[in-house]
Amino acid sequence: MSNKKYDVVIIGAGSAGIASASSLLKRRADLNIALIDPSADHYYQPGWTMVGGGVFSAESTHKKTAELIPAKCTWLQDSVTDIEGSINQVVLKSGDIVEYEQLIVAPGLKLDWAGVEGLEEALGNNGVTSNYRYDLAPYTWELVQKLDSGKAIFTQPPMPIKCAGAPQKALYLSASEWL
Ligand SMILES: Cc1cc2nc3c(=O)[nH]c(=O)nc-3n(C[C@H](O)[C@H](O)[C@H](O)COP(=O)(O)OP(=O)(O)OC[C@H]3O[C@@H](n4cnc5c(N)ncnc54)[C@H](O)[C@@H]3O)c2cc1C
Repeated sequence: MSNKKYDVVIIGAGSAGIASASSLLKRRADLNIALIDPSADHYYQPGWTMVGGGVFSAESTHKKTAELIPAKCTWLQDSVTDIEGSINQVVLKSGDIVEYEQLIVAPGLKLDWAGVEGLEEALGNNGVTSNYRYDLAPYTWELVQKLDSGKAIFTQPPMPIKCAGAPQKALYLSASEWL
């Protein structure tokens, strides 16, 4: 177990965490910033809409996290398990404690596929797809290309969802191809 201290600690090195770190460093290059994220892989999720529309390849939305961490930041490859806000500390899965002056919390949204009965089993088969998964967005494009006639059903759940426009964008891009 070890203690480390930073001016700014950012939980999550997704698009939000990395953009926040870059933006802060552009204005205050002397800041000592730590990004905490266990994932070695980074996915540019907005790109999955374009994968489903046949515009991007899935591979172009995937990069190694290590390549994206701003040069002046420290990447702690670990998960945050506790935030001790009253004493400016976060606790990591490894047991390490990290102290901060300012904390940015950007761990993204967790998808709840099991919230719709039967969805997990159905996805990826028999014409059921979702642009919300890296491995399935290419299947969306495959289905769009295969459909010559008939009906396609698009669903849009209520908020909170990632990108309120993504379900509609899938519909517009598909319709554009069919037209
Ligand atoms: C199909 C699709 C289309 C979208 N289109 C758009 C769009 O057009 N425009 C737009 O603005 N947004 C869009 N979004 C929303 C998109 O999710 C966000 O813009 C962006 O990717 C979110 O970035 P994030 O950093 O908040 O989350 P994420 O990219 O999910 O990153 C969160 C990170 O936090 C890490 N993490 C989680 N828990 C912990 C923990 N306990 N400790 C440490 N790290 C942790 C994860 O490993 C992950 O790397 C879209 C999303 C989807 C799925």
